[in-house]
Amino acid sequence: MKVAFLGPPGAGKGTQAQAVSRERKVPHISTGDILREAVQTGTPTGLKARAYVTAGKLVPDEIVVDIVAERLARPDCKQGFLLDGFPRTLGQAKALDAILAKSSMRLDAMLYYAVSDDVVVDRISGRRLCKSCGANYHVKYIAPRKSGVCDRCGGGLYQRADDKPETVKERLRVYREQTAELIDYYRANGLLKEISADNSVEAVRADTNRVLDAVAVR
Ligand SMILES: [Zn+2]
Repeated sequence: MKVAFLGPPGAGKGTQAQAVSRERKVPHISTGDILREAVQTGTPTGLKARAYVTAGKLVPDEIVVDIVAERLARPDCKQGFLLDGFPRTLGQAKALDAILAKSSMRLDAMLYYAVSDDVVVDRISGRRLCKSCGANYHVKYIAPRKSGVCDRCGGGLYQRADDKPETVKERLRVYREQTAELIDYYRANGLLKEISADNSVEAVRADTNRVLDAVAVR
């Protein structure tokens, strides 16, 4: 099973990816995680990436591609893998095809977690964090017993600047603009499997399993 998961912030793609990785015993390769790992262990590519990370700049495509290629070359990926957050651009998608072709492999499916803007804004803008202990809340879904106060330590709750509705809407706009070509690419080559991420976590989980079962028997 060689698959990739794509979806905007708030789609719940990461949660699904972790569950699938655990249940189907395939490595969960999150771009953020492997980038951090490469930077920390100081591999040659990691050192190149570090320069961008410390400067607060976006790591360029070719470095991200090299780090993913190094990760996919490890033995645990022979039977399958789950890419989370990669490819993110059309250039990365083409680079992935080339990496896999070298080992006579190809991607089986790209699962796209489609979600409406309103749902994302509702999920993200309701998040609250405790100033003291960092506990997570949601005004609707994981509400504290007393509004604005942490159940665990009594600390005050706050909203991250990134989670404000206007910021969330802007992040979504940028995300959709960046990924439009990528989605078209996978739609055209027949690998795109769209899942409605507006539904509950359980429903999305069931849809994900249905898609993956179909991929596995092919
Ligand atoms: Zn707290």
